Amino acid sequence: MSLQQANTVGDVYRCDVCGAEVSVIKGSQGSLAPRCCNLPMQLRPTRQGIYFCAICGAELMVLSEGPGELAPRCCNEPMVRRKQAA
Ligand SMILES: [Zn+2]
Ligand SMILES: [Zn+2]
Repeated sequence: MSLQQANTVGDVYRCDVCGAEVSVIKGSQGSLAPRCCNLPMQLRPTRQGIYFCAICGAELMVLSEGPGELAPRCCNEPMVRRKQAA
């Protein structure tokens, strides 16, 4: 078990058995290992999008994207989509 498996905000884990999904809302350096139905949940390849306000620091997590053009605003400014770490 490596301790380098930092978990990152927006990471999504899914239970292959029942379809439950969880998402990291606060990252850390711990070795996160969520379980469901007595099995480890699987890390999904897609990460949820995060928007942040450069002025006040508010953050939004995209739960489900539609076909429209998502453009959240805060403090009268457009929020910035966080770059996904490689
Ligand atoms: Zn489950
Ligand atoms: Zn703001």
